[in-house]
Amino acid sequence: MRYSIFNLVRQAFNHHRGWNPAWRDAAPKSAYDVVIVGGGGHGLATAHYLSKVHGISNVAVVEKGWIGSGNAGRNTTIIRSNYLLPGNNPFYELSMKLWEGLEQDLNYNAMVSQRGVLNLYHSDAQRDAYARRGNGMLLHGVEAELLDAAAVRRMLPLLDFDNARFPIQGGLLQRRGGTARHDAVVWGYARAASSRGVDIIQNCEVTGLIREAGRVTGVETTRGSIRARKVGLAVAGNTSRVAAMADLKLPIESHVLQAFVSEAIKPFIPGVVTFGAGHFYISQSDKGSLVFGGDLDGYNSYAQRGNLPTVEDVCEGGMALMPALGRVRVLRSWGGIMDMSMDGSPIIDHTPIPGLYLNAGWCYGGFKATPASGWCFAHLLARDEPHEVARAYRLDRFASGRLIDERGVGAQPNLH
Ligand SMILES: Cc1cc2nc3c(=O)[nH]c(=O)nc-3n(C[C@H](O)[C@H](O)[C@H](O)COP(=O)(O)OP(=O)(O)OC[C@H]3O[C@@H](n4cnc5c(N)ncnc54)[C@H](O)[C@@H]3O)c2cc1C
Repeated sequence: MRYSIFNLVRQAFNHHRGWNPAWRDAAPKSAYDVVIVGGGGHGLATAHYLSKVHGISNVAVVEKGWIGSGNAGRNTTIIRSNYLLPGNNPFYELSMKLWEGLEQDLNYNAMVSQRGVLNLYHSDAQRDAYARRGNGMLLHGVEAELLDAAAVRRMLPLLDFDNARFPIQGGLLQRRGGTARHDAVVWGYARAASSRGVDIIQNCEVTGLIREAGRVTGVETTRGSIRARKVGLAVAGNTSRVAAMADLKLPIESHVLQAFVSEAIKPFIPGVVTFGAGHFYISQSDKGSLVFGGDLDGYNSYAQRGNLPTVEDVCEGGMALMPALGRVRVLRSWGGIMDMSMDGSPIIDHTPIPGLYLNAGWCYGGFKATPASGWCFAHLLARDEPHEVARAYRLDRFASGRLIDERGVGAQPNLH
């Protein structure tokens, strides 16, 4: 059933009783060509592109809870492609281009809003680093603008520009960056994949991987065994747990990241703003709520909740940047589990075990990657070779030393 203004009007005459469910809640079959473990954005996008681009529809997405119950439905919804390194930039720019056509592709309103992402700088050294990043983006054909303090002040007059410790000198702006409604992205991919025959199986936890003659040939689940020619893992914060079922130890740690939403207020922030002197970022949703977050909680966990010291830390960052925030009430906060890779960049690759493929290591930036991650993982699963923009996301780079250390933070990005 297509969504259109004509269908909306037609359904209105029928008291909206004629809408079909957006996707089929399928029961597991005994075998598929591909089983994708994890019904987050990445797993569902992979299923969509497998069926749409590669014509492989005998696919199941197996999700232990409900689709979008993981990080896909918990993030702060920021999308951007302001990356510096050649291993990352073309991948994230492909993602941005897919975002730009996503709603037409899925026939679903994902509320993609290119309202701009501004990274503030507070020192000469930081300005130089952002100028370098902006030049790197321009060389890759991605637009970037370096703003001075006066330009930032015109855009965001309520920032604390003259804070003696963190004076704002300017910012690096990507106008095509912005936000998208995270759960609509999940639902849109699920609907599109399901309409092509993909089975979306909720409340079905993978509890083991079936191995025969050294090959993964299926999954054991709480709803029985499912055979598959290929199994793709897209379980984000649970990657190390599920990989352990195949005795795989990965260069990934799981950490908690929290997010916060305030009461709705009048338009206050035009786009996404990140504080350069602390870890704090903020945007305003279409309903008027301020959506913000900051640093990881700083300890390993598989629990989808965080702790009060980080709440305090994030709010301090917000107050240092925008003292007016002190007047706003926080309505909700929650946590998700980050699959922190040891160079801060993702993995889209075969594993050493035939039949088992890996999509992981998204750290706290995987939402923006959702379309390209699905596109490239589908390519790998369908053709058994990496997509050209994901070639650098190899698992063995941690052994060979070909790291993609975008932030230059060394081998422990989880501590930053
Ligand atoms: C608070 C917060 C803020 C963030 N902000 C941003 C942001 O602004 N921009 C950005 O780009 N990124 C952001 N991220 C990161 C982003 O959300 C993730 O990197 C991305 O969503 C991960 O991919 P996914 O959507 O497939 O993961 P998930 O939605 O977590 O999907 C994985 C799924 O696997 C399922 N699963 C796990 N184990 C099993 C099993 N054994 N069997 C079956 N299913 C299983 C889980 O239930 C889950 O639904 C943020 C994350 C959080 C938590």
